[in-house]
Parts: sequence; structure tokens; C-alpha cells
Amino acid sequence: MELALDNVTVVYRRRGVETRAVRGVSLHVRKGETLAVVGESGSGKTTIAKVAAGLRKATSGTLSWRTAAGLDPPPGDSRGGRRVQMVFQHPVQSLDPLWRIRRAVREPLTRGGLPRGEADRLAAEMITRVGLDPSVLDRYPREVSGGQAQRVAIARALVSNPEIVILDEPTASLDQTVRARILTLLSELQRSTGVGYLMITHDISSVRRLATRIAVMYRGLIVESGPAATILEHARHPYTRALIAAVPVADPRVPWDATAHMARSRDGTSWEDPCPAGGAPCDEHGAGLHPVGPQHLVACTARA
Ligand code: ADP
Ligand code: MG
Repeated sequence: MELALDNVTVVYRRRGVETRAVRGVSLHVRKGETLAVVGESGSGKTTIAKVAAGLRKATSGTLSWRTAAGLDPPPGDSRGGRRVQMVFQHPVQSLDPLWRIRRAVREPLTRGGLPRGEADRLAAEMITRVGLDPSVLDRYPREVSGGQAQRVAIARALVSNPEIVILDEPTASLDQTVRARILTLLSELQRSTGVGYLMITHDISSVRRLATRIAVMYRGLIVESGPAATILEHARHPYTRALIAAVPVADPRVPWDATAHMARSRDGTSWEDPCPAGGAPCDEHGAGLHPVGPQHLVACTARA
């Protein structure tokens, strides 16, 4: 069973201006594994997260649950859907300021029809599992730190025992030490619950421990994907290599010019270099991803 996006394109139209935020992206994520989607700001990561969570419709392409037997109905209205939950980048803003934390964490359960008493008991248990003191349940979001609020958001996402949790830059707004602790927590929770993560991040170094597979996005396209170790150690695409070489990543609020980095990447690879898929000239590689190793796919540089 896997959550799958197939050939998803998303076009935004604002005041007559069209932005092709996502261009023909396919990906899947299963229970128990982490697919990390990595790319710089503006590459289309949040758009992908919203489509996967059912919060935004794709302009074309499909979202489905795929089983060996075929397709299940789409996960549907994600807000009530127990199978997919989402954790956002800004934890305090993602929680209702007028709700005490107890209500925020139990709400996915009461929405699913569980009596309030039972939901409160499970919420308290979940709050402890994310490393918070149960006294936090009586507070409002503005009364806890950013790191605590993100633990609350993680508790809220996991309390209904979903199959997949989508995490959109879950540590980007937190400071370095808190960031490391949240990543450790996510990893422990995955081991104990078997949840699958679709982990969105601009920082490839942050997914070293967590990712099973990595998909690299550049300007709305996946330019390379594969097992995490393969991508981190044997990246083929110059953009992936630039992302890895750029660690530690600069301030995420400052736009990062990938093309400039590519010219200066370790091995001097640049857009003008031969197609990373090798073999045929680039004009034969106009579309799609090409296999270059076990489960390792790369796009032609002529494509992006
Ligand atoms: P990321 O999360 O990687 O920074 P996004 O998915 O947020 O990327 O955005 C991808 C592109 O789509 C950007 O160029 C962004 O400006 C544009 N975009 C995102 N949301 C909207 C929107 N609601 N309306 C118009 N353009 C948008
Ligand atoms: Mg984003």
C-alpha cells in the first residue's frame, strides 16, 4: 500500500500570471519509510505536500492509494482523513490560537467519532510520547516555545494513527539544537508506530539519518531520485551535487542561486556538461527520468 502522485502538474494563476509550480512529478511513499523531497525555496515542495495531503487539487495528474490489487479511492478530505496527516513549517501558526493544546491534539479523534473522554486519554498519552509534560495540555499555543509547539503538532498528526504523515520543513523555523531533537523524535516515532513520512526540506543534510529515499526538486521537476545513500554518495545530477556541496545551507530565508553554485560545485560540473544519464545526446533525453542504477533515476540537464 502506498500513497502515490502520478504525473502531477500544478499551475497557479494569479492576476493573469501563470506559474508552473510543479511539472509532471511522480512519487510514492509507503508505511515505515521516509521519502525526503529536497530542493531550494520556490522549487515546488510545499505545493507537492499540499497535493499529497489532499489540500490542493492538481491541475493534472492523480493522487491515489495504490495497492498490489489496484487503486483505492483517493485519501480525500485530508482534514478528517486518518490515513494522511500533515505537519507544517510554522508550528505556532498551524495551531488554532483559541484552542487549548488538549483540544488541538484530541480533535482528530473526536472528529473521527471517538468519545471525548477516550480522546482526552489518548491525547495525554500522545503528548507524553512526544516528550512533553501533560501540563502542556492546559496551555494555549502562544504559551509554549516553537519547539514545544512542533511537538504538539506532531502529536496531533500522529494521534489518529495515520499511515503517512507529510512534514513540510518541520524544523526550518527552529534553532539548531531543537531541530536535532525533533528529528530524533520523528525517527523514534517512526520506529515505534511504523508511520511513513513524506519529508519536505531545503536542507539535504537534515535528512541523512531519516530518509529511506530522496527525490530532488528543481523548478517544479524531480531531477534525481533514489535510495538515500545512493543520492548522498553517488549523485549524478549537477543540481543534487550542488545541494550536497552547499552544506551547511545558507539562511533559508535568502534565495539560493543553484545555478551559481553549480558552476562552483566540487567537480566543476555545470549545466553545460554532458547529460548525467550518459550515453545518448541530451536532445534524446527531452522528458522523463532515466535509470542509472538500482532505483536510481536522473533527469537530463537539458530538461530543467
Ligand atoms: P517551495 O515550498 O519549494 O518553496 P512552493 O510550492 O511554495 O515552493 O512554490 C512553488 C512556486 O509556486 C513558487 O514560484 C511560488 O511563488 C509559486 N506559488 C506558490 N503558491 C502560490 C499561490 N498560491 N499562487 C501563486 N503562486 C504560488
Ligand atoms: Mg515551502
